[in-house]
Amino acid sequence: MNKRTSFSSNLTDWYGRNARRLPWRVTRDPYKIWISEVMLQQTTVNAVIPYYGKWLTIFPTVEDLKRAPLEKVLKVWQGLGYYQRAKNLHKAARIICAHYEGKLPSEPEKLRKLPGFGPYTTGAVASIAFDLPCTIIDANVRRVVMRLLALDGYADTSQDQRIEEFLQKAIPSRNTGTFNQALMELGALICRNREPLCLLCPVKAHCAAHQKGIQKIIPKLKKKIIQDLDVAIGILQRGNKYLIQKRPSRGLLADLWEFPGGKIEKGETPQEALKRELKEELDIDITTSRLLMNVRHFYTQFRVNLHVFHCQPKSYPRPHSFRKWLPISRLTEYPMPSGNAKIVARLQKVIDNSRE
Ligand code: SF4
Repeated sequence: MNKRTSFSSNLTDWYGRNARRLPWRVTRDPYKIWISEVMLQQTTVNAVIPYYGKWLTIFPTVEDLKRAPLEKVLKVWQGLGYYQRAKNLHKAARIICAHYEGKLPSEPEKLRKLPGFGPYTTGAVASIAFDLPCTIIDANVRRVVMRLLALDGYADTSQDQRIEEFLQKAIPSRNTGTFNQALMELGALICRNREPLCLLCPVKAHCAAHQKGIQKIIPKLKKKIIQDLDVAIGILQRGNKYLIQKRPSRGLLADLWEFPGGKIEKGETPQEALKRELKEELDIDITTSRLLMNVRHFYTQFRVNLHVFHCQPKSYPRPHSFRKWLPISRLTEYPMPSGNAKIVARLQKVIDNSRE
């Protein structure tokens, strides 16, 4: 057995014995593999598991996804974040149905042209679903290979050319999906960032960092500083209905629905910001506003503090395709940013308690 085959067979044998049983690992259906790989980007395995099951119940095939309105797709995705991923899945499903009879193409160059298919997703689907010799690099693979080669420096994309050269030589000609998944699993379970478990590692004989005793923490680029964002939100009520409106189709949290309001500028009180925002957004004045609740939500790069007021407007904005008055029970039908979804849940509790 040469060095290349002993590396890949040690790795894949270990994977066969130790891989976590995850729902997307029991299928070869390219659609299901695609969905799992997109969901797993920027999101932990535990967070993805319930979303993956729900998604496949509601959209079991590419055709079902293509037929669904975007609003429903965003609603099912609500809470996973990075909503552009859901929009790209929807767009790609339409193209797959129009050009490939509802089946993902197996050619990497065709996959690569679909919305949302970067090098990672293309390599993952091509290798796991179609057993093609495509390599993939994610954060786990990058860290493992940097250690195998004892590379210096930050674990960022500047390392990827050398990592790619290594992977091209190491990847076997068959069971490439197993090889790729095994490398990622090794990074998740054994070659961990802070405490690599070298004694349990199936490829320690191939690891330069282990041999040199330098399997130290690999520095990551510093994360951007998390910023606090204070936002004033207005709950406008007319009878038993509440006003929500749709965000623009571009930019942050595009196409999601939310209560009116906006960022509190420097020097403003939340009430002043609310008055200004409602005037700018809806051209209405409010007579009173009463603090209903404060809600916090963490996004990747910022933290929002939502100051939520119940408002008494002097006049009511008219409904529109992007502005709706809805009873509380129907608010949950609309895709919302997680902070607004928390407001709806708490509002529902307030209403339920007042009925008891
Ligand atoms: S021997 Fe240690 S540092 Fe090297 S790949 Fe295995 S776990 Fe990582």
